[in-house]
Amino acid sequence: MIPTHSVTADEYPNQATDPISHDHRLDKPEEACGVFGIYAPEQDVAKMTYFGLYALQHRGQESAGIATFEDEKVHLHKDMGLVSQVFNESVLTQLPGNLAIGHTRYSTTGSSRKDNAQPAVIPTRLGSLALAHNGNLVNTVQLREELVETKVSLATTTDSELIALVIAEAVNAGADWLEGASKAFHRCQGAFSLVIGTSVGVMGVRDPNGIRPLVIGTLPGNPVRYVLASETCGLDIIGAEYLRDVEPGELVWITEEGLASYHWSQKPQRKLCIFEMIYFARPDSIMHNESLYSYRMRLGKQIAAESAVDADIVFGVPDSGIPAAIGFAQSSGIPYAEGLIKNRYVGRTFIQPTQSMRESGIRMKLNPLKDVLAGKRVIIVDDSIVRGTTSRKLVKTLREAGVIEVHMRISSPPVTHPCFYGIDTDNQDQLIAATKSVTEIAEQLGVDSLAYLSRKGMLEATREDTNSFCSACFTGDYPVTIPEQVKRSKLILEKVAV
Ligand code: SF4
Repeated sequence: MIPTHSVTADEYPNQATDPISHDHRLDKPEEACGVFGIYAPEQDVAKMTYFGLYALQHRGQESAGIATFEDEKVHLHKDMGLVSQVFNESVLTQLPGNLAIGHTRYSTTGSSRKDNAQPAVIPTRLGSLALAHNGNLVNTVQLREELVETKVSLATTTDSELIALVIAEAVNAGADWLEGASKAFHRCQGAFSLVIGTSVGVMGVRDPNGIRPLVIGTLPGNPVRYVLASETCGLDIIGAEYLRDVEPGELVWITEEGLASYHWSQKPQRKLCIFEMIYFARPDSIMHNESLYSYRMRLGKQIAAESAVDADIVFGVPDSGIPAAIGFAQSSGIPYAEGLIKNRYVGRTFIQPTQSMRESGIRMKLNPLKDVLAGKRVIIVDDSIVRGTTSRKLVKTLREAGVIEVHMRISSPPVTHPCFYGIDTDNQDQLIAATKSVTEIAEQLGVDSLAYLSRKGMLEATREDTNSFCSACFTGDYPVTIPEQVKRSKLILEKVAV
């Protein structure tokens, strides 16, 4: 094991308590994780994984890790921090191997500490396995109890370690890698897109609903080599070509022989998280044969058609609201303008802001262009509202900049239910739309008008089968049953109602 460097778990601020970084994320759900895997003995697999993770950084900023396999030997480095903080040239040179897997994490189960960083490495009778997970299991408690009963000791508090342990259990009982993995996945319920490294090859796996994305890419050469990434932007950065998605309920096994596909689930169905398309995934990532930028522009066109309003200019909340704002402007004929400038170099600060700065909070990240906005009736487009706290500050800032009317358009429906599949949307009582009507929310935010996109509009804009998405945070209709115990932790309103 290579010694870790720089920021230690104890020194590193938790996003939940760090005032500045917390301020940045106030009104947005947080993505769970990004995963990456590569089998390419003739390449510097650690470096390629580093760049793959670098492109997937938006999916998790708390910790990062890479495990490489040099025949039977596993090299692992993981720590708290951004990919660029956790790795440098000298660390990467200590990660030789034929294949690698990597992970960048935001904690949705287990606290934000170094032990919980991934990949999880577990020894088995066939050698070690390293596992990186995007998503959340919903039967964690049950799995944990089963493992504790068989006297398996747990090193972390993550559901990802549990998946690795159930694979190890099956392998240690005599199964080979494929059998063992497939057996283990039948014990897992919820969302899991996984990359798993072994001394023989790399596996890519999706749960039977394909809730979180996972794509396969190829690296040119003879023989062709394969890469796995949460999104296509993780392929682009290393020059890999998008081949296809890993299908729901599929396991791909990438070895010296090439790529083999196994369908381990008898009941696959497509239920991709619609929030991946609206907000989480990068706009330059490809889903359903087009960039998400194009889909998000269509969402803007759709809400312009559904909830027109007269105004002087349209702009988006940077960066995620911009494609929909451009679509809105194109469809409505109202000019698009930049109304807010994002401080792109803000990063994290370890310095506490003053009280007055905290009140105007939003300006740490977004600054209004006063001469563009003063005296104008504006339409401001955002992709979602979760708690409403940042939106309210934003509206106040616009008013202070001289805006005379603020019309807010949201390119998704009201978020009324929490996510149990790997997205941190908080408990239900913190979701503004769970307890307030649109009129009440408009009042709370201080806008002249507020409209959300319809669920139908959101789904039809995908140009795909509208049943092939999870949209449970807008409806409460969860594609994988949530056990009562888990449900109670987040569905505060239903608990009270019982
Ligand atoms: S509940 Fe919402 S955020 Fe969670 S997977 Fe479904 S659509 Fe995505």
